[in-house]
Amino acid sequence: MTRAPDIILLDPHEKSIRSLLSHGAGSERSAYMLFGVAEIEKDPWTQAQRTRLVSHQFKAVDDDELVSASGRHVTWQTDGFMHLLTTAKTEGLVPALVHTHPVGEARFSEQDDRNEAELARTALLKGVPGLISVVMAGNGDLAARIWTQKDRAVDIGRILHSGPRLRISGLQGAPEPFLDRQIRLFGEQASLQISGFRCGVAGGGATGSALLPMLLRLGVKEAVQFDRDIVDETNLNRLHGARRSDVEAEMPKTAIHSRTVSEAELGMTLATIEAWAGEPATWDALKACDVIFCCTDDHAGRMFLNRFARFYGIPVIDVGLAMQRRSDTACDLFARVSTLVPGHPCLLCGGYIDARRAREEALKRADPAGYEKLRAEAYVLGEGNPSPAVVTFTTEASAMAVNEWLAGIAGFAGQGGMLPTRMRRFHARDERRPLVVSRGDCSCCALPETLGRADMKPFLDSVI
Ligand SMILES: [Zn+2]
Ligand SMILES: [Zn+2]
Repeated sequence: MTRAPDIILLDPHEKSIRSLLSHGAGSERSAYMLFGVAEIEKDPWTQAQRTRLVSHQFKAVDDDELVSASGRHVTWQTDGFMHLLTTAKTEGLVPALVHTHPVGEARFSEQDDRNEAELARTALLKGVPGLISVVMAGNGDLAARIWTQKDRAVDIGRILHSGPRLRISGLQGAPEPFLDRQIRLFGEQASLQISGFRCGVAGGGATGSALLPMLLRLGVKEAVQFDRDIVDETNLNRLHGARRSDVEAEMPKTAIHSRTVSEAELGMTLATIEAWAGEPATWDALKACDVIFCCTDDHAGRMFLNRFARFYGIPVIDVGLAMQRRSDTACDLFARVSTLVPGHPCLLCGGYIDARRAREEALKRADPAGYEKLRAEAYVLGEGNPSPAVVTFTTEASAMAVNEWLAGIAGFAGQGGMLPTRMRRFHARDERRPLVVSRGDCSCCALPETLGRADMKPFLDSVI
């Protein structure tokens, strides 16, 4: 950790911290936490090394461990702290102290400085990379810092609050003047939030090509695209920004989108990773995002991001389309948007990923010759004919996905924020919200040990 890290605070953990306020009923309370570590070797926008810490586990200090507590102080036995340090050290996590200031502000007091310096010394001697401290005031405001040296703590300015509602604390500045009409609807604060999210777009095809220019018009300043496809003639019916001459020039789709963004001159920096989401070349940049739009039509990429969202706590908004001609007079036209945040069921539990197709696609990428051999021997399903696609439906699906994200930030559709899944049927002109329940043992949406676990070896604790 060479620079001050930033934090991703997951909604269930933030709720647990808040519950200390009611539990303490006016007197201070404390808790321990563990954070996963996301090391980013090269941030796609600044090229600098960065560390993010993701909330992973929360444990309140029980009443029988309390020595004394009032509205102005709390002291407790430190046996639990020694146990916390041991767990952090063996699992490669960062330990944290949490306490409340029910009558004060979200600011560290001189007493906090003294107490924490002592505990930080113990933690660093134990061999953990740092000790995080979080304080929550009675109004729910938070402050956080990290001790990486025994006598000096560094403030953590930027916190991504990740759940059905989305927020980044610590953003500075004002939204761009060109956003005037948007500010009239959502207000300055929400517009500043929208601009501050670093957005990943996985897949530069029909939905990605529609989605990226929407982010541009919403004032997003930093985005990164993941794709390595070349435009072809049959893309021209739906790929926003594509020209006939691009087909002749065999342009990568990412180059078309970069041109769209740079010619607009609206202040967006668009980074490009020429790889499919899930390939090792994409991991670093994905970890740097505050939201990822999954605009790919492959099952392998979707399978990867489904798991990635769980381990890193970075919201993934998945767009899926299914279109087919049923008879001479009827079509099935579905668009689905699912939001993968703590508390929502995952795509596997929803039955929205075909695990067999995902494995085949992964094999095709890793070992094309082996895949062709299996296909020739009819051991794999392989791709069928290209699926139908029409620009109006792909574009509307993209807008649904972006609107869901905006609902998470601006709360325009209610304080609950993003819905787990919306399914629009263009052929029936209706929309449904399928009820999906997490499988109790699902490692992508239910098991506590995967939530916010961040970096692991192997990556995502899996071999896919
Ligand atoms: Zn304090
Ligand atoms: Zn699941």
